[in-house]
Amino acid sequence: MKIGIIGFGAAAVGFVEKIKSTHNQIHIFEKNENIAATSLSGIRADGKLFVSKEMGGDLDISMELQQELVDYYVNHLESKNIETGSSFRSMEIYQRFYEKGFQPVISNFYHIGTDQLKELIFRLYENFISYKNIHFHFNSEITDIEIQQDKIKLAGFGSFDHVVVAVGRSGHQLINRIIKKYPELVVDNTMVDLGIRYEIPNHVVEELNREMYEFKVKFKSKTGYIVRTFCNNPSGYVITENYGDFYTVNGHSKLKEKSSNTNFAVLATIQLTQPFNDPIGYGSYVAKLTNLLAGKDKIILQTYHNFKHSKRTKNLYRVMPTLPEDQYILGDINLAYPRRIIESIIDFIENLDPVIPGVANPDNLVYAPEIKFFTTKIDNQRISNFNFIGDCSGATRSIIYATAHGYLMGEKFLSAE
Ligand SMILES: Cc1cc2nc3c(=O)[nH]c(=O)nc-3n(C[C@H](O)[C@H](O)[C@H](O)COP(=O)(O)OP(=O)(O)OC[C@H]3O[C@@H](n4cnc5c(N)ncnc54)[C@H](O)[C@@H]3O)c2cc1C
Repeated sequence: MKIGIIGFGAAAVGFVEKIKSTHNQIHIFEKNENIAATSLSGIRADGKLFVSKEMGGDLDISMELQQELVDYYVNHLESKNIETGSSFRSMEIYQRFYEKGFQPVISNFYHIGTDQLKELIFRLYENFISYKNIHFHFNSEITDIEIQQDKIKLAGFGSFDHVVVAVGRSGHQLINRIIKKYPELVVDNTMVDLGIRYEIPNHVVEELNREMYEFKVKFKSKTGYIVRTFCNNPSGYVITENYGDFYTVNGHSKLKEKSSNTNFAVLATIQLTQPFNDPIGYGSYVAKLTNLLAGKDKIILQTYHNFKHSKRTKNLYRVMPTLPEDQYILGDINLAYPRRIIESIIDFIENLDPVIPGVANPDNLVYAPEIKFFTTKIDNQRISNFNFIGDCSGATRSIIYATAHGYLMGEKFLSAE
């Protein structure tokens, strides 16, 4: 069988790993120009592998498979030198958050770090190209597909017996095109996570960083929105992320090089009802408006005090940003963000302050736009030879869940052969 895989990210890794030793011809189309430029988003920029039943996606992935996939990635590293830990192992800390209305999220994590990720990607790639039936096509962005009678055509690259779309969040343009053409593939399309990246001095969260590295909590704010922390980076760095037509903010940390700040996302989950059906459009508009105010390619940085009181920030005080100066502008996020989101975030931070004193300090830093798209949920049952895996399917939000999704889809593919 001739199989086409669009995108070489975490989900594709799981799928290819499962089917690599078969007689099928496997063609992987990746828009980046070579393996060094390939993003594998999370795997390249940070690489925290989580094993948890409570986060990572809406699939039921057994703890055993999650652990197996962590071992799979770690075994590709030469040094096996990684940071590991568990969140909320201490009942005393769990209760401290719980008493103030927070829901702690329990997970085990394995932190590879940005610096070791390049090696990991190369080793995975080297293993795959040693199989004669696996063909990589870099610099090959798929811009359209066509469902034919018993084949799937990839615009400019011919027809395939089976196609697996694994384009992650950065492939939103292709996904939009597909669902516009084949709206029957959509099963759910109403959620988006919109928020900020928060940066504070390490010493404010020292105990938590030492105890669990990654603290994840959820909170029902006074607006009714659920607000959560995401992607905590002790001694980390804030970065911007290029989505092609807009920029957002993100964070990462390295195993060797450390900063004196910790950053994490504070996100409000927005679930809208009919006739709304374009969460990516909504998130993109807010991001573009923020970029418009900041100037092309830039994001807005503001102190927490000014964010709370809707005043433009002109000077910083004690906390200095880890994001390079040419990538942000000091401004007022309130000019771009809906009020309900801002109020939800402020409510979250104010309630967190008694649990983590100093978290609401006036000179802490707020960056926007920070957006996590819950991509449209796609129906994988509808067309048997056309599947979506990983984040672009709307079912996953983490490296391990995306890899597991690919792996399980590979298993399903083999059993149907
Ligand atoms: C900066 C950042 C840090 C993160 N950190 C973590 C973390 O520490 N831990 C964690 O669990 N999760 C993390 N995540 C989330 C995690 O990266 C994703 O959940 C996971 O990578 C999803 O895997 P995927 O295969 O679905 O997509 P991806 O890994 O994003 O791979 C998609 C691939 O498809 C390619 N592509 C896109 N469109 C096309 C097209 N039209 N044609 C051809 N190729 C295309 C892309 O270039 C990319 O290589 C992070 C995400 C980001 C953005």
